[in-house]
Amino acid sequence: MKVVVIVVAAGNGVRLGVGTPKAFAPLRGEPLLAHALRGVLGCGEVEHVIVVAPGSHIAQARGVAGDDARVEVVAGGADRADSVKAVLAALHPDDGIVLVHDAARCLAPADLFARVIRAVRAGHPTVVPGIAVTDTVKVVDAECRVQATPDRDSLRGIQTPQGFLREVLEHAHAGGGYATDDAGLVERIGGHVLVVDGDPRAFKITSAFDLAVATALIVQDHLRP
Ligand code: C5P
Repeated sequence: MKVVVIVVAAGNGVRLGVGTPKAFAPLRGEPLLAHALRGVLGCGEVEHVIVVAPGSHIAQARGVAGDDARVEVVAGGADRADSVKAVLAALHPDDGIVLVHDAARCLAPADLFARVIRAVRAGHPTVVPGIAVTDTVKVVDAECRVQATPDRDSLRGIQTPQGFLREVLEHAHAGGGYATDDAGLVERIGGHVLVVDGDPRAFKITSAFDLAVATALIVQDHLRP
C-alpha cells in the first residue's frame, strides 16, 4: 500500500505572534514548513505528500517544496478538520495509508514516520505517537476548580504524524463532529486507536517560547531530525 502524508499547514499562527501563518515563520532562516518537509521526505516509505496551506500562501508553499515531484500543495479550510477534509478529495487512487502531520511539529524525525507506518502495516487501522505525561494533570471546571486528577500512568501526550488506513480516515471525517486530532474522530465512530512511542522532538510549536526551544535544539546536531 502506498503512503501519503498530509501536512496541515493552514493555521494562522495567531498565538505565535510573528505576523505570518505559523508554517511560514522562520526557524534558523528557513520556514517551519521546510523543516517539517525534511522530516517527512526523509522517510523512504513516503511516496506522496500533500501540503495544506493557507489560500494566501499557496505560491510560497510551492516555493518551499521546490521541484520535488512527490509534493503537491492545496488550499486549507477554516479549521484543522476542514483542512484535512479538503485534502481527502485530492488523494490519489493508490494512496492506501494516510498520515496526517502538523507542520507545527516541524522537528518530528523521519524515523517517527517510519514507526507509525510500520504499525499501520502490521494491522492497526489507526496509529498515533504518544509520550508519557510527566506533569500531574487535573481536570478543572469553568471556574478552575479541580474536578479530578486522572492516574498519570494512563495518560499520554499525543503527537503527529497520525497514521490511518485511508478508508478509516475517510469514514471518520464523514462522521463529522469536533475533535482536536484526527484519531479523535476515529474514536467517535468507535474505531480502535493504537499508541506507539512518540518522540520529544515532535513537540508542537505554538508559542514564541516553543520557537526559541526549537531554535536551540536545531544547533545540537544529535537532536536534528
Ligand atoms: O492550531 P493548532 O496548533 O492546533 O494547529 C495544528 C496544525 O493544524 C498546524 O500545523 C496548523 O497549521 C494546522 N491547521 C490547518 N488549518 C487550520 C488550522 C490549523 O492546517 N484551519
